[in-house]
Amino acid sequence: MHVPLVVLGGGPGGYAAAFLAADLGMEVALVDRDERLGGTCLLRGCIPSKALLHVGRVVAESREMAEWGVSFARPTIDLDALRRRKEKLIGTLTGGLATLARRRKVALLHGAARFIDSTTLEIAPTQPGAPSQTVTFDHCILASGSRPARIPAFDIGSPRVMDSTAALELPDIPESLLVVGGGYIGLEMGTVYAELGSRVSVVELTDGLLPGADRDLVKPLQQRLGTIFEAIMLGTKVTGLQDVGTAVRVQFEGAGGALERSFARVLVAVGRRPNSDGIGLENTGVTIDRRGFVEVDGQQRTSDPHILAIGDVCGEPMLAHRASHQGKVAVEALHGEPALFAPRAIPAVVFTDPEIAWAGLTEQEATAAGRVVDVSRYPWAASGRAQALGRTDGLTKILVDPETDAVLGVGVVGPGAGELIAEGVLAIEMGCSARDLMETIHPHPTLGETVAFSAENYFGLATEIYRPRTADASAG
Ligand code: FAD
Ligand code: NAD
Repeated sequence: MHVPLVVLGGGPGGYAAAFLAADLGMEVALVDRDERLGGTCLLRGCIPSKALLHVGRVVAESREMAEWGVSFARPTIDLDALRRRKEKLIGTLTGGLATLARRRKVALLHGAARFIDSTTLEIAPTQPGAPSQTVTFDHCILASGSRPARIPAFDIGSPRVMDSTAALELPDIPESLLVVGGGYIGLEMGTVYAELGSRVSVVELTDGLLPGADRDLVKPLQQRLGTIFEAIMLGTKVTGLQDVGTAVRVQFEGAGGALERSFARVLVAVGRRPNSDGIGLENTGVTIDRRGFVEVDGQQRTSDPHILAIGDVCGEPMLAHRASHQGKVAVEALHGEPALFAPRAIPAVVFTDPEIAWAGLTEQEATAAGRVVDVSRYPWAASGRAQALGRTDGLTKILVDPETDAVLGVGVVGPGAGELIAEGVLAIEMGCSARDLMETIHPHPTLGETVAFSAENYFGLATEIYRPRTADASAG
């Protein structure tokens, strides 16, 4: 079989690319070893984790309502029903993708693909005994994604030690859970299990949670997590794990010395690795860097003229929206358009409670680069909407170029931060100045106003924040 364009991988990068290619009139095949389309994001990542976080948030809100004089009974959790509801959601979305593929006449091929050379893929059968299939192509867009990073010493063959895929299956609500890794997955899944009733401890190797995130944003999150987690151990290393039949015994070493504790389950969430090995890339001209990421240029072209690569397999940040944007750039490039993946900002959102979201430059990045920026912070305690929601722990901050007033970075912590950041991304992409944000009329009372108010605060003109004028201050 020959197809002009093959997309290898049916995740958010791969299906976005295949669908656009079909929309532009190209003949395209999409191959995945999974029977269902959607990739990591839909089947074992973004979507199921956000569904469970929604459940966790409802549990937390029902508890917090007591402060307003409204009390609910402690929730009971029917795990089978919860799992079924999560699977139904995944089924709906993956079914929708299959329908969209069929309508667009995208040929769906099923099996594990491997490069024989720069223009040939062999697709191994999924049924034992069935023949393998050979597909030749003019171009292939590689979108094979990533998988959980593993620490060999933790591979003790125990079902009590889980990765994110196993944790999303919700095998049970363990009485106690140790999360190894205080990054995106550790904190999101730790929140889910804590709200469902587990005593959750987190151990993080570095000195802070979410090492890449702005410290002002992490602070309120860490404070709140401190109230739902049993322990947050920073600058601490796990030195050993043993399954002792009824639990996992874990040894730690940190600033406070050595420690040993037992947990009913352990979730290992220490990053992800690109799926660039075991797929025959050595039979092509594709170059892989020392971390295993496929090297690409601004049009997602690899060093092999027949192969382009997008998404997690070609670098960080490993986020679904980056994968799909790269997919579209790759297809447009093949279509002969002057496409380029050169965003000014790729938003990042950690869907914890509170959520953390940022786009563009962070304060730590500015400091590390020796770049002079002005930082304006707007504490949510000054927001009527945040007060009405009982969530004054939030903060919106902007980083501004002091010479041009251009908005360089936006960060938000608080419920709904993930929704609010879109305005920040647009502001950075459009080259907005702080004055543009300030003078754009935002609806009241909303959390979105805090973006405009942080710009007002940059000019020292925030209505809800009193700053003594220099003359008043010296007089007083
Ligand atoms: P993937 O989604 O990984 O898809 C790759 C596909 O390729 C898979 O379907 C795989 O089966 C297929 N494949 C691989 N090798 C072969 C082969 N040899 N033959 C055939 N098929 C193959 N990102 C966000 O932006 N927001 C979130 O909220 C978010 N939450 C997450 C939560 C969790 C628990 C996890 C694990 C990840 C989360 N991510 C999130 C990250 C997001 O899932 C990834 O960035 C995204 O899925 C990457 O898309 P992709 O298309 O590059 O690859
Ligand atoms: P991560 O890189 O976000 O966090 C891993 C954490 O583990 C880091 O803080 C790291 O310092 C720590 N760590 C590493 N080795 C350790 C060890 N031996 N002991 C203790 N801590 C250790 O990785 P993740 O949480 O596994 O998530 C993987 C990727 O998936 C993310 O980087 C992100 O790209 C994507 N993701 C995104 C979202 C989202 O967008 N909301 C959600 C989940 C996952």
